[in-house]
Amino acid sequence: MSDNTLLSAEIKKLQKERNAIILAHNYQCPEVQDLADVIGDSLELARQAQKTDADVIVFCGVDFMAETASILNPGKTVLMPAKEAQCPLAAMLPPDVIQVAKEKYPDAKVVMYVNTTAAAKTYADIICTSGNAVKVVESMESDEILFAPDKNLAYYVQQRTKKKIIPIPNYGMCIVHDNIKPEYVKTIKKKYPNAKLTVHPECLPEVQEIADHIGSTKGMMEYVKNDPSKEFIIGTEEGIIHRMKKEAPGKIFHPINPLPTCRNMKKTNIQNLYEALLDMKHEVKVPSKIADKARKPIERMLNL
Ligand code: SF4
Repeated sequence: MSDNTLLSAEIKKLQKERNAIILAHNYQCPEVQDLADVIGDSLELARQAQKTDADVIVFCGVDFMAETASILNPGKTVLMPAKEAQCPLAAMLPPDVIQVAKEKYPDAKVVMYVNTTAAAKTYADIICTSGNAVKVVESMESDEILFAPDKNLAYYVQQRTKKKIIPIPNYGMCIVHDNIKPEYVKTIKKKYPNAKLTVHPECLPEVQEIADHIGSTKGMMEYVKNDPSKEFIIGTEEGIIHRMKKEAPGKIFHPINPLPTCRNMKKTNIQNLYEALLDMKHEVKVPSKIADKARKPIERMLNL
């Protein structure tokens, strides 16, 4: 038996003893995805975190995701095996930037991407994910929307609404998706002319414009499963291809070259997952003063 098989068996045993659920983002490495009870995008995982009966939530993802799970479950223990896995995009929105924008646009509502810190979320009217951003914006009463922090997602939303989208800050972006350059995509398209191109809305506008489909990771999963095409070019973090191969067998998936890899998503592995469950360590706790304020805009989204 390999070390990984032994560790996986130990994790399953501990999981039962602790009454724990393992949630993993679509970008996690294959070994972690294979151990998870639920694999999904931020919205799916937030919903699971809200409705689980488990006493312990083991969150395999990055900081803001585990924080969101903790905010929604103040009575539960949320563990993050790789405590140092931080999303650089979330770090691009310090609260003072929002405060300045709010003063400049006093009538605007603040729609904030889930990829933000708990402290930043306390300034939001509502949270959104890439899967529901347009719907969330459309649900707001104001015609002016301060949209934070991803400028490419802001562009995507602006193409689909008549409301005025004001990106804050105007340089916010996911370093992984923003680095998928149009020339990389064009080269792959030339190599595989029959493949459909599906991309994430955190990609650059020039990449969005040449795509056959744009969607959240959940949307991309559905697209490759339901579209009759046999071949796809995947414009997002490469981790999702493992899940696509499992759930859409017989189809062919081409990653972008150079491979878009989120270093932070890959910090979780089965060793630190095992250690977190064994020692009940790396607990994520959001101070109640912040959590109580941040919970409202998250619940507003979940209730939409
Ligand atoms: S892929 Fe981008 S948005 Fe997602 S965690 Fe990594 S840096 Fe953050």
